[in-house]
Amino acid sequence: MANQYKKTMNLPKTRFSMRAGLAQHEPERLKDWDENDVYGQLMKKNEGHEKFVLHDGPPYANGPIHLGHAQNKISKDIINRYWSMRGYQTPYVPGWDCHGQPIEHKVEEMLGTAKFNQLPTEKIRELCRKMAVEQVDTQRQGFKRLGVLAEWDNPYLTYVHDYDATDVEIFKAIFDKGAIYRGRKPVHWCPHCHTALAEAEIEYGDEVSPAIFVRFEMTTVPAGLEAYEGRLWVDIWTTTPWTLPADDAVILHPEADYVAVLVDGRAEIMARALVEKDCAKFGYESYKLATDADGNVWSMTGTELAHNKYKQPIFADQGEEGEFIYADYVTLDDGTGIVHTAPGHGVDDYNAGMRFNIPIIMPVDDNGCFYKGDGIGTGGPWSGMDVNEANPKIIEWLDERGTLILHEDINHSYPHCWRCKRPVIFRATSQWFVSMDKTGLRKDALEEISKVKFYPTHAVKRIGSMVEGRPDWCISRQRNWGVPIPAFTCQDCGEVVMNDATLDKVIELFREKGSDAWFTDDPKDYLGDACVCEKCGSHNLKANKDILDVWWDSGVSHTAVCKHRDNLKFPADVYLEGSDQHRGWFMSSLMTSVGAYDMAPYKAVISQGFTLDGQGRKMSKSLGNVIDPNKVCDNQGADVLRLWLSSVDTSVDVPCDDTILSHVGDAYRKIRNTLRFLLGELEGQFDPSVDGLPFEELEEFDKVTLAHMCEVHDQVSKAYPEYRFNVVYRTLYDYVTELSNGYLNATKDRTYCGGKGSRERLSAQTVWAHILTMLVHDLQPILAYTTDEIMEFLPESMRDGQKYAALLDWYENPVSSEVYAKYLPAYKALVDARAAFTKSYEEATTNGTVTEKTTQATRAELTVGPDEYALLGSLGRDGLAEAFVCSDVCLHEGDELSCEVLPANGEKCPRCWNWRELGEDGLCERCSAVVSALPAGE
Ligand SMILES: [Zn+2]
Ligand SMILES: [Zn+2]
Ligand SMILES: [Zn+2]
Repeated sequence: MANQYKKTMNLPKTRFSMRAGLAQHEPERLKDWDENDVYGQLMKKNEGHEKFVLHDGPPYANGPIHLGHAQNKISKDIINRYWSMRGYQTPYVPGWDCHGQPIEHKVEEMLGTAKFNQLPTEKIRELCRKMAVEQVDTQRQGFKRLGVLAEWDNPYLTYVHDYDATDVEIFKAIFDKGAIYRGRKPVHWCPHCHTALAEAEIEYGDEVSPAIFVRFEMTTVPAGLEAYEGRLWVDIWTTTPWTLPADDAVILHPEADYVAVLVDGRAEIMARALVEKDCAKFGYESYKLATDADGNVWSMTGTELAHNKYKQPIFADQGEEGEFIYADYVTLDDGTGIVHTAPGHGVDDYNAGMRFNIPIIMPVDDNGCFYKGDGIGTGGPWSGMDVNEANPKIIEWLDERGTLILHEDINHSYPHCWRCKRPVIFRATSQWFVSMDKTGLRKDALEEISKVKFYPTHAVKRIGSMVEGRPDWCISRQRNWGVPIPAFTCQDCGEVVMNDATLDKVIELFREKGSDAWFTDDPKDYLGDACVCEKCGSHNLKANKDILDVWWDSGVSHTAVCKHRDNLKFPADVYLEGSDQHRGWFMSSLMTSVGAYDMAPYKAVISQGFTLDGQGRKMSKSLGNVIDPNKVCDNQGADVLRLWLSSVDTSVDVPCDDTILSHVGDAYRKIRNTLRFLLGELEGQFDPSVDGLPFEELEEFDKVTLAHMCEVHDQVSKAYPEYRFNVVYRTLYDYVTELSNGYLNATKDRTYCGGKGSRERLSAQTVWAHILTMLVHDLQPILAYTTDEIMEFLPESMRDGQKYAALLDWYENPVSSEVYAKYLPAYKALVDARAAFTKSYEEATTNGTVTEKTTQATRAELTVGPDEYALLGSLGRDGLAEAFVCSDVCLHEGDELSCEVLPANGEKCPRCWNWRELGEDGLCERCSAVVSALPAGE
């Protein structure tokens, strides 16, 4: 039934619509931000203030944005918006990692490998650059749509001239300290593609390989086997016969027992655990085990046998020998418990060899063929032959010489090149390294990270243990799309030339013409006087082909971006990325910065978990569980995505799926409705700077409510700078829920039905205005679009005189914590008492004591303890009745909290629907006064 007094009431009125229509309206708002340069206005607003620099980690310029990107950029935007409200100038320069292998691979796919391999480097680089630029544009649109404010028109890109020059600048600084060196290291090598491959570029597939058992003749005699001198052998096992020309050690397990098998007049050493199995396999029918002088079976451990010698299996004629060494990774499952080793052809072998100072012999060239020659370091009998071709020939050769024990074929998982799909080989190549220890880089880096603030705090251990265990950093790659390692080779004597003079000239060249010039210009033209071989004096230098690891590129952004851009600063205040970047960008930034400047490039590091689906699985096309941020923006709006991000604990992996987003959508509507509800009694009718009451003059109920709001705001103010967005979200969401069930529901009678300019109504409106202002400000970093939308309807003093929400200042509580703290116990007592009231109201309606379906038709007998009695007494009988939305509350002092709910006295006022004693005009006293005070006709 329509209320006939409607016209006499202050019913809510606002143009802020209930339906958000974010998907439709956000793009319009974004356009407005663009046209009016809101980011520029923000920089201007805090010009001259202290800066807060969140340095953007560059995503790889590849493909449209995914949810992980969205998480990353929204988090950064929340942080920047927050510190900006705090008065800091927050220049934010987004960047992209543009060099590197995925782009080069895309170009190769586009052209086809044959055509790609024919193109000159400079042409490939041109196509790669074009590809990168396109990818940057796609991603930029996606990031902007999320509402992220940034220098979008002037991002940093890792392929520009100054950036290229900076790569070499940092290289020079670290080179000058003596940490950069050239060394050999086994890498996965594709002979077909002529390149080293990273572990990520390897695909494992089954392959049939020859497995051979071979005996090597020993040249030393282990103690206790003197009786067998001249007929001692060691039996080994290998699946890569072609590595035998590079053999120079055999590896045993340090703790395993080894024995000597006596057969056909020979004594062959093998692991005791494998004797039975192997002898059966080898056809050693009547064998015995060698015994020592006392007649006991002779045995020694791997450790004890170390440093014995044997004849190199291929080059023994030339006096070459190999050595016994040991390593934990040798197993006793297969073979003889002794493996042949060529440190140049395997990582484990390399590491084991390093520990025993075993030289690296590398007889295989870029094409996977043996070098020609007679001695060690060449292919000897198989000079010039492809290693796979040589395999059967080597087996045959061994057989002819009687050293082959057994040949069988095995099926095993073998690494293949991801590009050409052919099997790869391990091959030691000359690479450039940054030493972790020569100049104390490891020690210095550890010391520097101890000064950095990590969020979450335990992340310092993670990066710390990585720094501790990190091998020297291999920084060279054999690719096209990247920044060259600035080294030259003397064409006359083969010396590698690199010194301060050449490095300075290269920096100059790159700054002027970019690193493309490396591949087109003649060193004589740009090196000038520096174009000279230090060893032989020749001026005939050639630029080397290796490029820098792409992590070097992004790592030096502390200089290329933070130092080289006037509006930024070094070190940056904070880096924020996914937790995988402890190994990646956080690490390469740390290494290059400590290497060049002896200091960390960041004061704080925030690491975040990964986005997973609702069941904790990785998102993948095949599972069909991918949440596309572009689609979420198009359907639900960027603010829903932003609210989702704020709702999750980003310090661990974060879940997202359609159900979760739909719940976030519900939360969004709840928040929006509360904002709208508040605006309904304020928009166009109340400006706190003119109409607001000072704290002391507020109604008691309003005072305690405002005190609680101050407490909530302080909690939010504490959570933001700790980057705990989920605490901000939880605090504000719970507060909004509490408001709509409690205070706002209770005071809507005063605001709707009270006299328009009455002190009581102004008191409520004052608090409503504070709450709305606080919510808009505290939500601004998260709900960038919605808070900006509501700005159009807020009275001027509630929006700090600004048009755009991004330009708001941080909200200040109306009273200090000393003042509001005094009212918090009363608020707490009120919440408890109201809960008791609600509970007994429900009982009263169930048992029939109360028949009307509204609390307004009830009164309460409330009993509370002595402390609460004093606290609640201050609110007065009317205040308590208002808080409970009932007709009357009679307060009693007792032992504990209890409440009895009874039918109200009086009748229902037809205007306000409260139960009161009604007057002659049929209205309650308050309504009667309000109506009679209205001018005639209203
Ligand atoms: Zn290949
Ligand atoms: Zn020379
Ligand atoms: Zn009334």
